[in-house]
Amino acid sequence: MVRETALYRDLKIELFPKDTISYEKDQIQGILDLYHQGIDVLIVFPYDINALTPVISEIFDKGIPVIDVDRKLNTDKFTAFIGSDNLDVGEQAGLYVVKMLKAGGNIIEIKGAAGSSSSIERSLGFKKIIDQHPSIRTISAIYGNWDNHIVEHRIDSVLQKGTIPDLIFAHNDEMALKAAEVCRRYKIKPIIIGVDGLPIKGGGIDMVLNNQIDATFFNRTGGDIAIQLAVNIMQHKKVNKFNLFKTFAIDKNNAKALKVQYDLLDELHVKIQKQQSKINTLTQTILNQKTLLILSIAFGILLVLVASIILYYLRQKQKYIYLIDKQKEQIEAQMKEQKILTEKLIQGNKILQEHEKEIIKQNITLKKYGNDLENMVRERTQELQNALNKAEESDRLKTSFLANLSHEIRTPLNAILGFSSLICERNMTDDEQKKYKTIIESSGDGLLSLINDIIDFSKIEAGHLDIIISDISIVKVLNEIEQIFRLEIKKHQYNLQKDIELKTNIDDKISSLVLRTDEIRLKQILSNLIGNAIKYTDKGFIEVGCNVLDAENMVEFYVKDTGIGIDKDQQKIIFQRFRKAENDNANLYRGAGLGLSISKHLVSLLGGQIRVESNPGEGSVFYFTLPLNH
Ligand code: ADP
Repeated sequence: MVRETALYRDLKIELFPKDTISYEKDQIQGILDLYHQGIDVLIVFPYDINALTPVISEIFDKGIPVIDVDRKLNTDKFTAFIGSDNLDVGEQAGLYVVKMLKAGGNIIEIKGAAGSSSSIERSLGFKKIIDQHPSIRTISAIYGNWDNHIVEHRIDSVLQKGTIPDLIFAHNDEMALKAAEVCRRYKIKPIIIGVDGLPIKGGGIDMVLNNQIDATFFNRTGGDIAIQLAVNIMQHKKVNKFNLFKTFAIDKNNAKALKVQYDLLDELHVKIQKQQSKINTLTQTILNQKTLLILSIAFGILLVLVASIILYYLRQKQKYIYLIDKQKEQIEAQMKEQKILTEKLIQGNKILQEHEKEIIKQNITLKKYGNDLENMVRERTQELQNALNKAEESDRLKTSFLANLSHEIRTPLNAILGFSSLICERNMTDDEQKKYKTIIESSGDGLLSLINDIIDFSKIEAGHLDIIISDISIVKVLNEIEQIFRLEIKKHQYNLQKDIELKTNIDDKISSLVLRTDEIRLKQILSNLIGNAIKYTDKGFIEVGCNVLDAENMVEFYVKDTGIGIDKDQQKIIFQRFRKAENDNANLYRGAGLGLSISKHLVSLLGGQIRVESNPGEGSVFYFTLPLNH
């Protein structure tokens, strides 16, 4: 089996030999061990077929193919059987016995174990031949149970009875040898035939050659065939269930030749083993070399690969270097271009910055112009607004002036016309005539004064008011004015029952003072102020005076009265043309609202200023300054 297995080395068969000697318990345990170890095929040489059949059947049922060798099991549960054709063994043994006992004789048959198929078949074959020859009798048939001790004991029992056999046929060589030994003890020498004919040392062939037995029957075990069948089973090839060998007799005639053959075979086997060992070594060497070769090839391929990669990378590197050089050149060219561009840009920037500066300057100028323009527009707008206001005011004032004027003209004219016609009536008393005459004169004066005012106002408006400067005596001017107004007061007292006293305050400082101014205009101003004082005062006094303002080289005239006074709001507007203070006084005061306006212009023309201090109900003081030297 080992030799056969070696022939299938490419299939990687592993043989687990389990030497279980001859005890059935050992063999059962051995088979279970192999099963648990994990086997693909079980090859069994059963010792006790009865004991082993259950365990082998169980393994077969579990799907493990079973090859039964030498002794046939008492079941169909195996894959293949290899062994001798035991019937043939029996028959051949019978024929040999017939040949040897031509004259007939007594024979003892030593069977194997009871129930053993090989034993039964051998016995059957043997009986079949012997029964054909009545001169040959089987005097005893015993079961040796393949056991030498049992054989010894049972043969001894048979021989003790005095039975002398001519031939003993044992179902194996071992039992035959034991029977020959017992016979020798009884000094009898029957023909001893065994079965097996093993070519091993001390085996059946040796027994024949050593004259220990007379003949044996070749019984091929078929270990090699078992391996062949196992291979076929594993390769799923069909195998015969029964593989039987034919037998032949081995005796003195052919034992030597067989021995030589077997020796030769053994030698050949040894040689084969050596060859196999060599093959093994060679195979190992080849394997090693193969591995080495593969490794070398792999290494070679790796080398070639690495070399190729290195070469490739070198080429790539060269390519890259070339490309990089080219790119470098391009970059340098671009850098040059950029440098030029940058310079141009810097120049452009400078120009732009200058432009920007210029623009900023222009912006500032523009802003200035804008501001100026805005201011101008604002001023113009303001001026226009003022002009508009003025125009509106003018319009309004003119309307009111016309209304005043018509009243101021019509009233004295009516008085003149009315009293002129009355004065000529016959029954008029002298007093009445005097009174009417005064009214007519007063009305005429009023008209004259109004016309003078209008003329002056027109001149002022047209800018044609001339002034004539001369050295004048303040005292003289004040005295003359006083004279005029005393008369005036008298007139008024007569007409309107006024109780006013006119006072002139002339101190020493003034008496000698000479003023350079327009005398007529000064008198006109004073007349206006005193006239107003008289008009708006019913009781008390009117004081006219003049002070010297040394520090300013000016004189200040004043006209003080104890009249109705002017409230603060009215004080602001009375110097405007055509403006009359509105009061809830029951008295209706005549006047066109021109006097103070004209006075203000005159004072201004003479280089001075006019103002008023007044409290309603307490009276007023009008001040105006004039430079000593105009
Ligand atoms: P009028 O001819 O109306 O008097 P004026 O220009 O002389 O015009 O005066 C303007 C106004 O000032 C008067 O209408 C009056 O209301 C007020 N006014 C002027 N002088 C006095 C004064 N001495 N006392 C009170 N009111 C006065």
